[in-house]
Amino acid sequence: MKQPVFNFSPGPAVLPHAVLEQAQAELLDWQGSGMSVMEMSHRGKEFMSIAAQAEADLRTLMAIPNNYKVLFLQGGAHSQFAMIPMNLARSKQQADYLDTGDWSLKAIEEGKRYLDINVIASSADSHYSTIPPFATWQRNPTAAYLHYTSNETIRGVEFDWIPEVENVPLVVDMSSDILARPIDVSRFGLIYAGAQKNIGPAGLTLVIVREDLLGQVLDGTPSMFNYQIYAETESMYNTPPTYAWYLSGLVFQWLLKQGGLEAMAKLNQRKAEKLYAVIDAGDFYNNPVDPDCRSWMNVPFTLANASLEKRFLDEAAQAGLVTLKGHRLVGGMRASIYNAMPEEGVDALIAFMREFEAKNG
Ligand code: PMP
Repeated sequence: MKQPVFNFSPGPAVLPHAVLEQAQAELLDWQGSGMSVMEMSHRGKEFMSIAAQAEADLRTLMAIPNNYKVLFLQGGAHSQFAMIPMNLARSKQQADYLDTGDWSLKAIEEGKRYLDINVIASSADSHYSTIPPFATWQRNPTAAYLHYTSNETIRGVEFDWIPEVENVPLVVDMSSDILARPIDVSRFGLIYAGAQKNIGPAGLTLVIVREDLLGQVLDGTPSMFNYQIYAETESMYNTPPTYAWYLSGLVFQWLLKQGGLEAMAKLNQRKAEKLYAVIDAGDFYNNPVDPDCRSWMNVPFTLANASLEKRFLDEAAQAGLVTLKGHRLVGGMRASIYNAMPEEGVDALIAFMREFEAKNG
């Protein structure tokens, strides 16, 4: 079946069409079990095999070293804003946070409930259109950890490099660009991501954490917020989001079939570059982000004539290009072009943008 529309939603977001078709085929009877995955006990052998396969495939995709635990959690990235200080503060009083936008700020605000937060640098002065140069970061060499957001989903600012920090565990919110390109997991203390952008359906939150950081939670930390407990129970301390886990596993298999993260990175770069090229071609469209840190995943843009925005969104929707409205904080448009957005979707958007400019420019 053909993809009915191209959905540019920032999340929950487009899933690979082939994955949805497979889920549909298996919906009522998973591989002869006579049950839907939704109906299975999380402790039964069928679901245990689905869970283990998903973890193994993710480990292959991201080349996750053996001394890292992969946790399949709930509560979204927002829960991680609290779980990280609760679990990683250890005996320290203070943590370093980089401020590159709206999601960094959310993590900072929540972190302040547990620790002294040292904002090592901020790009607020540039309206978050850039990443503060590494040399300007005012780091504390004894901080509990250093937190940053590798892709700011709202304004479309993304790291294509990993900060070089020694002796302080590096913690990253990868909610909107995990699996978009290969990364060296061993450089991180902890990686976390809500699933609903580049992994699978909402309801699952992924945490990849170095084992030696576990087991030192702040006093009073609820069991549900303790990584160690999930690590010891293979993420089955309580009932996990089984269907989201299964579907994410199908996405991992699909990614492996596409050639893994190297192949995705090439495709993502190509998709993003051609979209930015159209935006940059004249004055009709604009993207304010420094070209060095423009996101491959979320491409925000405005029209020089803002009064045309509604028409743009309406006509785009009529052409089958949906959910292009920008975040309420910034307005304008935003095309989220995660792994599952086919290149044809980006090509269709580009053709529409050219035509719209020709008619209204
Ligand atoms: N961090 C980033 C970078 C995000 O894009 C989002 C969601 N848009 C969040 C955190 C919050 O995620 P959740 O809704 O899963 O808590």
